[in-house]
Amino acid sequence: MPYLAQLIYRSRATPLLRRGDMPAFVRAIAAANERQGITGALIFDGEYFLQVLEGRRRQLDALLTVLKHDPRHEAVVVLRMDAIKQRAFPDWGMSLVPLRWDDDSAPPADSIAADGLSPLQRIATQGDERLRLVIDAFARGHWRDEAPSLAQTALRPSRITPPHHPSVEAVTGDEVSFAFQPIVDTATGRVRAVEALVRGPQGESPAELLARHRGSDLYEFDLRTKAVAIAQFAALDLDCDLALNVLPMTLAHVPDAAAFLLQALQSHGLPPERLMLEVTEEEAITQPTVFIAQMQALRSAGVRVAIDDFGAGYAGLSLLSEFQPDKLKIDRTLVRDIHEHGPRQAIVRAVTDFCLALGIEVVAEGVEDAAEWHWLQQAGITRFQGFLFSRPQLNGVGEIRWY
Ligand code: C2E
Ligand code: MN
Ligand code: MN
Repeated sequence: MPYLAQLIYRSRATPLLRRGDMPAFVRAIAAANERQGITGALIFDGEYFLQVLEGRRRQLDALLTVLKHDPRHEAVVVLRMDAIKQRAFPDWGMSLVPLRWDDDSAPPADSIAADGLSPLQRIATQGDERLRLVIDAFARGHWRDEAPSLAQTALRPSRITPPHHPSVEAVTGDEVSFAFQPIVDTATGRVRAVEALVRGPQGESPAELLARHRGSDLYEFDLRTKAVAIAQFAALDLDCDLALNVLPMTLAHVPDAAAFLLQALQSHGLPPERLMLEVTEEEAITQPTVFIAQMQALRSAGVRVAIDDFGAGYAGLSLLSEFQPDKLKIDRTLVRDIHEHGPRQAIVRAVTDFCLALGIEVVAEGVEDAAEWHWLQQAGITRFQGFLFSRPQLNGVGEIRWY
């Protein structure tokens, strides 16, 4: 049974609509929506829309797909798509509700209902608390930020850095090798770091390789293979930092693990400051006390620490209140389609704000799409890792595309 749902989105009128016949537009969408059993309200401030639509979920999904391609507006961001018990606007039509009246100009007579309330006031009385708060937020300026249209975005790379392979043949005969993926800074046009990603002799993924080991064997494998990553990184002879993934329990269970890593760096003439250890939020959070103790030990040697996969399934806010990393990597689950997704935008803004206030570097991971990158960049993020820029490359660094 398709359920009754409410969709709230914001968008921005394009010049096409602003020059055009607004009342005719509103009549047309009202008629089309009525045929689909969709009702709702449309709030407009002269530039941005906030539209509430209510109907069967399937109809709303279909309408949303059409809406996104309507050239009369752009920057469609979904703020809510949720099941509701009953419609807040069963007979509202789709009439255009101005966000506010100028104080000295009375609202148009035809917009005042018998109860003497303006349409906006009536929306507030009809909708639920959550809707009223979203409208308040919209009225206060939320969701009305600069959102340049994608057409203005350079979708083609403006510069390409060619692939890079080590002058010395990669360490051979090891049980694993590493693929390297750059973390780029689009503000400076420089590679900030390369992340080493473990691969098996048959190209096995990290998950496959790690699953072959159990208990202390797993931790020993995790640690000893880091020496291969460090050797390969040294052979690459790059002037950026090295990011290494490590299970936090590796550092706790293998005696002298920190000393092993420091020794491996030293044997290749790399200072500890060049190393950034990445620990996933999930692992850090299950054993916070052990985790924090190890991190302090590594930091006292100069090594920096990143929280990896932030936002992928675990609420790491309590961890962040106890332990502030040098870097926080926002997971692809938050990055995916962020340019169209209101809740992800609000979360990423809050996290970025937190990091900015505390001097924590932010990296957005898994950026695949120029529109995702474009949104993240206008939110103040300058460091990125993802297929859009460069794919991991075995025993080297692949081509880097700059935009
Ligand atoms: P991670 O640390 O988050 O590494 C990034 C992963 O995302 C890599 O997968 C990379 O190939 C992938 N990736 C990069 N850009 C994109 C993108 O634009 N889109 C998508 N969909 N994916 C992207 P990979 O190499 O399979 O690694 C998976 C995970 O395995 C890593 O996630 C890391 O947590 C773990 N791992 C990798 N190497 C090691 C290691 O040496 N030791 C340990 N303990 N874990 C490792
Ligand atoms: Mn990582
Ligand atoms: Mn990650």
